[in-house]
Amino acid sequence: MKETYLGVHVSPLTYEGIINEIKTRMTAGQQSTIIAVNPEKVMAAQKNPEVKQLINGSTFQIPDGVGILLASKMKNGKIQSRVTGVDMMARLLKFAADENHPIYLYGAKNEVVQKAAENIKQQNPGITIAGITDGYEQDEEALIQRINESGAEIIFVALGSPKQELWIKRNMDNLKNVLVFQGVGGSFDVFSG
Ligand code: UDP
Repeated sequence: MKETYLGVHVSPLTYEGIINEIKTRMTAGQQSTIIAVNPEKVMAAQKNPEVKQLINGSTFQIPDGVGILLASKMKNGKIQSRVTGVDMMARLLKFAADENHPIYLYGAKNEVVQKAAENIKQQNPGITIAGITDGYEQDEEALIQRINESGAEIIFVALGSPKQELWIKRNMDNLKNVLVFQGVGGSFDVFSG
């Protein structure tokens, strides 16, 4: 059951809970989207119904900020700890390596995404990085074709918010073999460091 803050849904699941649900959904061929929720996004959703729809229309809304955690505690909610975008990505990378799901990295500056891919490969032996594209690529149609041909099953999109969520929403129907989409903001910058 989701919790709701100012009309915005948040999933009260741990990292393990989300990975388990994702496994079940992948087996059933269902696509999943993961969006990080923090107080800034909750506030943006108050002013912009499209932002609210982007959040509430996602499969998993992870409680990325301490603000959400405090709000849940205050109303005896079930959210016990933060689930950050960058740690969620780290867990998904391990899952991808363990269970052989090729990943795609899309976003950030070219040198950042290249270095992030190198570090990810080192930290997750056996992972298949099906493709890498920097976040300043202009030809969306060519990119969609490249992702489809890559065999990627999990994609991390690092374009900042709400650009990355809008990109996912616009393209997921044309990426049928990609079953997991996570908007990760500045996470490639973290992995490249
Ligand atoms: N970015 C991009 N293409 C764009 C705009 C931004 O690839 O057209 C990248 C930028 O290089 C950075 C990330 O998106 O790596 C944005 O990170 P930020 O921390 O601003 O996102 P937030 O987590 O605040 O949404």
